[in-house]
Amino acid sequence: MANEADVLKALEKVPGPGGVSLVASNAVSGINVAGTKAFVSISGDPARAKEWEAIRLAAERAVGEIGGVERAIVTLTAEHAPRPEPARDHGHGHHHDRGPAVAAPRRGIIAAVERIRFIVAVASGKGGVGKSTTAANLALGLAAQGWRVGLLDADVYGPSAPRLFGLHGKPQVADGKMVPLEAYGVKVMSIGFLVDENVPMVWRGPMVSQALTQMLGEVAWGELDALVVDMPPGTGDVQLTLAQQVPLAGAVIVSTPQDLALIDARRAVSMFQKVEAPILGIIENMSYFLCPHCGGRTDVFSHGGARHDAEKLGVPFLGEVPLDAAIRETSDAGRPVVGADPQGAHAAIYLNLAAKVKTLLETQTRRAGPVIVKG
Ligand code: ADP
Repeated sequence: MANEADVLKALEKVPGPGGVSLVASNAVSGINVAGTKAFVSISGDPARAKEWEAIRLAAERAVGEIGGVERAIVTLTAEHAPRPEPARDHGHGHHHDRGPAVAAPRRGIIAAVERIRFIVAVASGKGGVGKSTTAANLALGLAAQGWRVGLLDADVYGPSAPRLFGLHGKPQVADGKMVPLEAYGVKVMSIGFLVDENVPMVWRGPMVSQALTQMLGEVAWGELDALVVDMPPGTGDVQLTLAQQVPLAGAVIVSTPQDLALIDARRAVSMFQKVEAPILGIIENMSYFLCPHCGGRTDVFSHGGARHDAEKLGVPFLGEVPLDAAIRETSDAGRPVVGADPQGAHAAIYLNLAAKVKTLLETQTRRAGPVIVKG
């Protein structure tokens, strides 16, 4: 497997603006290798964006040629504090394949992720399937196993962390970074903490991805074992950009048993495959109905669809979560079950899922090593 030193060595051969190597001219501001992906940030003068774009591409080529690197992602950050530039996003926002040429807000992202062992996306093909509830309880489940955990509510269109955790304060700023709020020992950050809940959020795509990169790079996450990212629902440009910009250790897909949802889930699976983020598995939510009165079980929808679908897609099936009033009530009351009743039967379901996710993360990174290095 390639490491940071290999990347630095490759970058030494890439000339910067004056012909001096990128490394010698101190333009390399961050390197991060996650499995077969290498992330590099270089800082350049936004006024010379064209020139820097050519350098960025050369750097990407050089890093991409390193043995063990299957994908190189080089981003440019502004060398100087960005000036207010109303047209900064113009012409860049829709090119999710390479990222904008000058991406000032991305500054700090690499430094931030270096202190986070695993970044895990929780995604769904569409809204309303229980993605946020699952993300919150998974985060709590990972924390219950001794991990230091953060939850980044990246669902900028409809942030749910304030409701799920009953958190409504504004984050403090210390040393130029926002301090995440905390619930049940999990650090939580959400755009919902910054914007009034009643203000309709009409974000353009580029602004969304800017907000996300800021929430990752400009938040004092500290050392974390896992950062669970509650992704915006769907598989559009915004989701793709986010999946691409963040060095994901893996993705968990939440789906309901209905066929339609499964079609969407399939799209989510292929989106992560496209950006080469390993899919840890699919969780079937609202899989069956548990009657709170008699304890009887009813398969409301054609139950088992996600398991079947996961098998067909060759993706692990992580488990089922029942449709249960207690899960809805606790998450809507700001006390997600794993935090509110960690010994209960509902918590057990999520704890079991979290244990599987933890194991997959740990074994996966081990697997990323020698297997990939070809002789
Ligand atoms: P998403 O993030 O996919 O939009 P949410 O997590 O916000 O979905 O869930 C949508 C609604 O469904 C919420 O009211 C939530 O409390 C409820 N919900 C989620 N999972 C379950 C479940 N397993 N049983 C009962 N209600 C659930």
